[in-house]
Amino acid sequence: MKTENINPLSNMKPVGEEPFLLTPGPLTTTMRTKEAMLRDWGSWDQEFKKVTARIRKSLIDMCDGGADYDCVPMQGSGSFSVEAALSSFIPREGKALILMNGAYGQRAAKTMDYLGREYVTLDKGDYLPAMPDEVAAILDADKDITHVVLVHCETSSGILNPLKEISDVVISRDRKLIVDSMSAFGAIALSVKDIPFECMVSSANKCIEGVPGFGFIIARKTALEAAKGNSHSLCLDVHDQWAAMNATGQWRFTPPTHTVLAFLEALLQHEEEGGVAGRFKRYDNNRQILISGMRKLGFETLLADRWISPIITTFFCPTDPNFEFTRFYEEIKTRGYIIYPGKLTIVASFRIGCIGSLDAANMHGVLAAIKGACEAMGMTDCSPPAEALEQRKLQSELGNETSY
Ligand SMILES: *Cc1c(COP(=O)(O)O)cnc(C)c1O
Repeated sequence: MKTENINPLSNMKPVGEEPFLLTPGPLTTTMRTKEAMLRDWGSWDQEFKKVTARIRKSLIDMCDGGADYDCVPMQGSGSFSVEAALSSFIPREGKALILMNGAYGQRAAKTMDYLGREYVTLDKGDYLPAMPDEVAAILDADKDITHVVLVHCETSSGILNPLKEISDVVISRDRKLIVDSMSAFGAIALSVKDIPFECMVSSANKCIEGVPGFGFIIARKTALEAAKGNSHSLCLDVHDQWAAMNATGQWRFTPPTHTVLAFLEALLQHEEEGGVAGRFKRYDNNRQILISGMRKLGFETLLADRWISPIITTFFCPTDPNFEFTRFYEEIKTRGYIIYPGKLTIVASFRIGCIGSLDAANMHGVLAAIKGACEAMGMTDCSPPAEALEQRKLQSELGNETSY
C-alpha cells in the first residue's frame, strides 16, 4: 500500500457529518464538548487547577462519596487507571479474588500477573454472571483473600453484573471491594451508601461522554493513605498522584489539558440532563429501541433480557451464508454508523453501543442502516445458530432477583 505522501485525513467528512459511533468508547460527543478543546491551557494555571478541582468534586458527588472518599484523575486510557488501582490498593502481601466473565476481567488478571501479585479467579466464561453464593463460598474457604475485583458492566458481552449482591457478600465477610465501573459509571447509579467500595475506576470517554485521555479512581481516603508505597510504578502510583494533587492542585506530570476541559464540559451537560438518572433514561430508551428493532429484523441478543445493560448489546452473527462481518460493518458505515466487532471466545457476535451523544433518532437510524446492509448483502435470515440460543436458555434459568 502506497500511502507515504498522502494525508490520511484528506477524504474526511466535515466536522459534524462523521459517522455516529455505536461503540463503548471513544464515542460520539457533542459539538459543545468538542469545542471545549479549542483553547490551549497551561497546566499550572490557576484556572486549570479550578477545572481539575471541579471535576474531582463532581465525581465524588456522583457516588455520594462525601468527606470519606476522594477522586484521583490519572493520565492514560481506562486500563492505566485499573492497573494503577490494582497496584496501589492491593498490597504486595495481599491476595485478590477476580470475578471474570469477559475480556475486562481477564485483563485485570493479566495485570496482576504483570504486577506479580497473588490472585485467584472465578471465571464464568463469556456470558454468565458470578453469583453471590459462589463468591461467598470462595471467601469462606480462603481467608487469605483480602480484595475482590468485580467488573460492573462487562463491556465485552454487555452484561450488567450483580454488583449490589456481590458487594453485600464481600462487605459482610470483611473484605475490600474494587469495582471496574468503567463503562457504567455516570449512567448506572453507584452510591457508596449501598456499595461501600474501597475503590472504583472509570474513565473520561464512557458514560460521562468526554474524549479519551484520562481515567479516574474514586477511593476511600483511608485506602488512599494506606496505599503509600504499594505501587510498582511511579507514573501509576495513585497515592503519589493524590498527595501531589492535594498539595499543589496540579497533576504530577503533564495532564491531557484539552481532554480535561472537554470532560468538564461533558460533566456540565451530564448535570443538565439530570445527572445519572437522566443519563440512564436516555441510554435505556436507546437500548429498548435497538433491541426491539433488531429482533424485528430477526437478530437475537447473546444475553437474556434481565442481564442486558443499557450500555452495549451483543448480537449473535446470523447463520445466513451471505453474512460476513467485514462487509456488514462497511455497509453500515457507508450509511453513517460505526458498530463494534464481538469480543467473545465461543460464538461469533457483534456489538452495538447505546452510549455517547445518541438519541432515539440515531437508534432508528442504525436500524435502518442495518436493514439496508442486510438487503445489500442479499441476506434473508438474520437468526443465530440454534446452539447459540441453547446457551442463552441456560443463562436465563439463573435466579431472578437481581437489582441494579
Ligand atoms: C473501556 C473499559 C476499560 C478500559 O479500557 P481502555 O481501552 O483502556 O480505555 C476497562 N474496563 C471496562 C469494563 C471497560 O469497558
